[in-house]
Amino acid sequence: MRWSRYYLFTTREVPADAEIVSHRLMIRAGMIRKEAAGIYSYLPFGWRSLQKLSAIVRREMDAAGAVELFMPVVHDAELWKESKRWQEYGKELLRIQDRHERDFCLGPTHEEVVTDIVRRDVRSYRQLPKNLYQIQVKFRDEIRPRFGLMRGREFIMKDAYSFDADQAGLDAAYDAMAQAYERIFEACQLDFSRVEADTGAIGGSSSHEFMVLADTGESEVVSCRECGYGANVERAETQPPAPPEVQKPAEMQEVATPACHTVAEVAELLGIGRERVVKTLLYDTPEGPAAALIRGDREVNPTKLANALDVPEVTLADETLVRKLSGAAVGFAGPIGLPDSVRLIADESVRGLTNFACGANKTDAHLTGVNLGRDVDLSEFHDFLLVTAGDACPRCGSELSLSRGIEVGHIFKLGTKYSERMGCTFADEQGQDQPMIMGCYGLGIGRTVAAAIEQNHDDNGIIWPLPLAPFSVLVLPLTNRDDAVVAAAEGLYEDLLAKGVDVLLDDRDERPGVKFNDADLVGIPVRVVVGSKSLADGKVELSLRRDGEKELVPVEGAVERLIELAAV
Ligand code: ATP
Ligand code: MG
Repeated sequence: MRWSRYYLFTTREVPADAEIVSHRLMIRAGMIRKEAAGIYSYLPFGWRSLQKLSAIVRREMDAAGAVELFMPVVHDAELWKESKRWQEYGKELLRIQDRHERDFCLGPTHEEVVTDIVRRDVRSYRQLPKNLYQIQVKFRDEIRPRFGLMRGREFIMKDAYSFDADQAGLDAAYDAMAQAYERIFEACQLDFSRVEADTGAIGGSSSHEFMVLADTGESEVVSCRECGYGANVERAETQPPAPPEVQKPAEMQEVATPACHTVAEVAELLGIGRERVVKTLLYDTPEGPAAALIRGDREVNPTKLANALDVPEVTLADETLVRKLSGAAVGFAGPIGLPDSVRLIADESVRGLTNFACGANKTDAHLTGVNLGRDVDLSEFHDFLLVTAGDACPRCGSELSLSRGIEVGHIFKLGTKYSERMGCTFADEQGQDQPMIMGCYGLGIGRTVAAAIEQNHDDNGIIWPLPLAPFSVLVLPLTNRDDAVVAAAEGLYEDLLAKGVDVLLDDRDERPGVKFNDADLVGIPVRVVVGSKSLADGKVELSLRRDGEKELVPVEGAVERLIELAAV
């Protein structure tokens, strides 16, 4: 491609909302153009990178036995009503009407459509398993679209759906997809990890996320260097913290704790460690109010708490509700004397505590010397502890560490949720109708390219990993006014093209400074500079964008060397 004919305009202007480096660089390198909040045009230079990734994804999906198809963007509401998600999905689902006032939505994901396809074709266990995938536009009316392609409203996803006759089949399909994902992100040369993910209240089944590790990631990941355990912090487990020393039961007493609203303030006033205070947090849930008890030096993980309570979500009670339930100001709730309507649930960290302090359900008062069994009966213990760095790995006991990641892929064992609701059944060996067992496997195409830039850049611009680079080689003649330079550059360009190399020739009539700045910004991995001086000695200068080290080579051997450097 000749830059003069191509559509690639770099810019210095970055909008104020471009908070993270990949977003800024994608705009500056002329890859994307914002059309509306969370809605982008993919300009030619950006689109090439997305196409490179799509090709890798297709190769690995095909190799894993998935079959490509293409489903619609606009979905009939009837299908979403059958799956009950027309009611359940919430505001991310953009609902529209056609001229006949029939309801439709823009597909945020395609379980409904693919299940409808398969239920009409597949009748018997003999026709299973099946795995269908597409690379398609999704629309989700995200509350806070941001970070460019990282969190768009209209975005491109690869989504695959597997259909099996039994659980073993699903397990095999899931493993095959997990391995394909590993190969995809390895092929992209990304630093990533596969972590356990939350499956929600309906869960029980397994789910993993693929995280590209980056400080700007929106997810937090817990990992163990020793045994390889990894989990999204939403789901991460640890061994319960060791209880403080067991004491002989003291008498329970009410003590005045005026204006002590935090555990730290209470502990200080009472002259005890925070681990001897039990925090009582009141939550509002779709099933009524709940009080969650946790050791004072630890925090609640709301996702794990929701799962423990078997509700879709929990929200901290507001001041009015706290007053109504505990009869006290915020900060003084405790397990003793709450109304029966409040479900009491305790984190494992509370087990084994003796002589602890807790709120007295009375403003400016706490209880001390409280003991389980004698003073308060707790029957429900669960793990809803928020894991922090330094906690013990649930598998091997080593120290866990915490890092940030960008969720680029998410795989999920769905089971029969959709096949049951939508009647997607097959006849088993006995001729009995059974719901198919499904899995779904998503991978964000735009988000992965953005994550690659997040992980590969410097102050001057993008440093493309070769497999995702829009072009592999940049031919950069320093001038258009020296016929020998132009001829040599054209010669290299034509030879590389003939050898099937993705090459861009910067034939623009620009000063060398402008060309070099743009070359650094757009980040093409291999560069060959053709200048009058070195050409007089029959040489051209090769370099890699990543380390910038220069190598002078004879013009004759340059193409072979460039092909070597540009090999993935
Ligand atoms: P998130 O928690 O980030 O909203 P999700 O759990 O909703 O993600 P999935 O429904 O599992 O995401 O979608 C599969 C993949 O699609 C994600 O792993 C991610 O790579 C991509 N993706 C999801 N939402 C967006 C978005 N708004 N913009 C760009 N890519 C997205
Ligand atoms: Mg989401």
